[in-house]
Formats: sequence, structure tokens, C-alpha cells
Amino acid sequence: MTLLHGQDSIQASKMTHGLDFYCYYGAGSFQNAAQVAQLFPDKRYVGISPFVTAGIDILDVEKGDSINADIPNHLRTNAKAPNLVLPGFYTSASNVAAANAVCAGNGIARNKYLVFSAHWTGTPHICAPSVCGYPQADLTQYASNADYDSDQTTQEVFHPMATPDPKPVTAIVMWAGTDGPVARKVEIPTALWAQLSALGWKNPM
Ligand SMILES: [Zn+2]
Repeated sequence: MTLLHGQDSIQASKMTHGLDFYCYYGAGSFQNAAQVAQLFPDKRYVGISPFVTAGIDILDVEKGDSINADIPNHLRTNAKAPNLVLPGFYTSASNVAAANAVCAGNGIARNKYLVFSAHWTGTPHICAPSVCGYPQADLTQYASNADYDSDQTTQEVFHPMATPDPKPVTAIVMWAGTDGPVARKVEIPTALWAQLSALGWKNPM
């Protein structure tokens, strides 16, 4: 189990660089998905929405946003979550038991969704009966200040990160043209270049 640290904020630019993951609002008045991706590229992300809509990992269940009764609809709408292995909801640790009961009442087992609990102890942790007394969470927001909230989770909640395609090899290809030798710079995919090298090709660059 690898612990990961992240933040969420309604002001993306206030978040700290160098963390493992960043939350963004994928819908609603604080929508900032593009800004978060631009400010914190090549990271893991968690998409949050204040209301049920497609393409969102986490439903925001708190005063002024969604309520427990909205959770089953969110989980069904986002059965394939964009960033996380399962969809889930964010709510205060004290509401998790009630939210779990709504899911169970709708035939949704606990292993079919993730719980993102808010429990501001100031100490990094993931809520669990043996840790802080609250029901088991998968992600926990453990601190909050004027600029951002601090979150902890495990690597297992995320889809594996895509490995970037290797950069192509720039090579010079030469041949005899009608008016003399011709040389052209070309980009060759790494895998193809490996095959050509094995055949004896040499790159004069
Ligand atoms: Zn806790």
C-alpha cells in the first residue's frame, strides 16, 4: 500500500506543487479541470462535482451541494470513473455511516464505491475505525486552510498512470538523387529504430 498526498482547492493556483495528486472540480461554479491539469501536469487527479453528472469520480455531498439520496444515482451514472478505479462520494466523516446506509439500501455494496471523508484532525490519515473511530474511508481530507485542503489516499484508488510514448529518434536518411546525394532529417519511432539498428543502420546525427 503506497500512501499518496494531494490537495483540493476552489482556487487551483493556491495549491502546492510537487504533490502526488490534485483534485479538480469537473462541474459547477468552481469548474477548474483545465487549470489544474495545466498548473500540475502529469499528476494523478480526482474529479469532483457538486451535483450528479457524467464523467466525474467524486460527488460532493455537503451543505449546499448534493445530499445522501443523490449518491446511488451518481455511482450508477459514473460506474466507470475517469480517474479512480471506482466512483465515490465526498462527505464529512460524521456522515459516512448514514451515506453508506443509503447505498446499502439501494443495493450498492461497499466494495462498489469509494469514500472520500473529511476529518480535519490536521494529522495525515485515512479514516478507519481503528485509526480515528470513523467508518473506513478510501481518501481522507485531513486538514483545511484558507488556500487549500490536504488529502491522503493510497495509490490503489487510481487507475494506473499511462506511460508516455518514448520520444522518436531523429535520424538522417541519405540516398542518391538524380542531381547527387540527398539527405533528409526524419523522425523514426523508437521501436522501429531498434529494428533498423539491428539490421546495421547507423545514425550520423
Ligand atoms: Zn478520520
